[in-house]
Amino acid sequence: MITPIIDENTIERLRAMINGVSRIAITCHKSPDGDALGSTLALCHVLRRLGKDATVVTPDMAPKSLEFVPGVRELVVFTKHEARARRVLNDAQLIFCLDFNSLKRIDRLAEIVEPLKTKRVLIDHHLDPDNIFDLSISFPEASSTCELVFRVLMQMGLLRYMDRQAASCLYVGLLTDTGGFAYSCDNPEFYEILASVVRRRFDRIALYNKAMNTFSADSLRLQGYAISEKMQLFPEQGAALIVLDKDELERYHYNRGDTETLVNKPLAIPEVYWSVFMREDADRIKVSCRSQGDFSVSDICARYFGGGGHQNAAGGEFSGTVEEAVALFHQVLADLFPPKSESETSQQPTEN
Ligand code: 5GP
Ligand code: MN
Repeated sequence: MITPIIDENTIERLRAMINGVSRIAITCHKSPDGDALGSTLALCHVLRRLGKDATVVTPDMAPKSLEFVPGVRELVVFTKHEARARRVLNDAQLIFCLDFNSLKRIDRLAEIVEPLKTKRVLIDHHLDPDNIFDLSISFPEASSTCELVFRVLMQMGLLRYMDRQAASCLYVGLLTDTGGFAYSCDNPEFYEILASVVRRRFDRIALYNKAMNTFSADSLRLQGYAISEKMQLFPEQGAALIVLDKDELERYHYNRGDTETLVNKPLAIPEVYWSVFMREDADRIKVSCRSQGDFSVSDICARYFGGGGHQNAAGGEFSGTVEEAVALFHQVLADLFPPKSESETSQQPTEN
């Protein structure tokens, strides 16, 4: 049994909001991942089947590695189709905000969305959402925004509109935001939702391989290089760090998405329970963190890298040089694991 976790009043308000409009915009965070694309496109498919004029507007392009998600080609991408993105958002009578908790995360779309009087509906699983939504469906304990879109559809009685395309989209988010059903999927209801989604009979195995197991030769070589040459281990602090600078990325013809799962790799080492990956992009250093168990990387990303996320998967940014970013990582180590005081280290077993 899948528990109806969203309160009925919220569901009724959402139903009224959707019934009262025809033009609906759906948006998600910049550098969209499998959950952001899966959840927005699934909702878009369902709303269109309900007869709505629904459009997904993203701050920037989907990575090549996610081009297989049904509907990606129809995205209105702000960095590519700015005028159209503005028009869709300005004309919308309702705006869905999926897989982000703060307007900062939608980059330049925020300038358009913020001043609009249009009602905003949040569906998200990040901690501490901003208080800028007219209706907020926020469950940080959920595996993914795709799980929450499924729950919304279920509670609204709309699952019959979840066709094969919508189910494929939801599957991508359920799969990728749990690292291939490895984390954030402790709740047995996750598998009931998964079962309901895969009953729509899309090619689940092909989709799994495209989402989890498909890399270009360059990407695979870059990951091999990063692990072999660039992974630093800090066994006393249970940490690993991988840093890739611009030259290294260029050498392997880096494309967005190529290093997507690299940060998880050091967690395979039993001694490592948190892992940090820094990538030197054109205008900033992108920081990604993953952890296992109670160790929270979202606190680290919020405090040191102006970001956030979830306890076990978080990210942020750093403005400065690679060396400065690495120095800040060492600062994190020193702050979280202060050197043992002399009295602790000099305590020797007493001998007669
Ligand atoms: P990733 O490391 O894959 O980019 O992100 C992991 C998680 O952290 C995702 O849930 C993502 O939403 C969140 N995250 C990544 N980058 C940022 C950021 O710059 N700011 C905030 N607030 N969250 C981030
Ligand atoms: Mn997500």
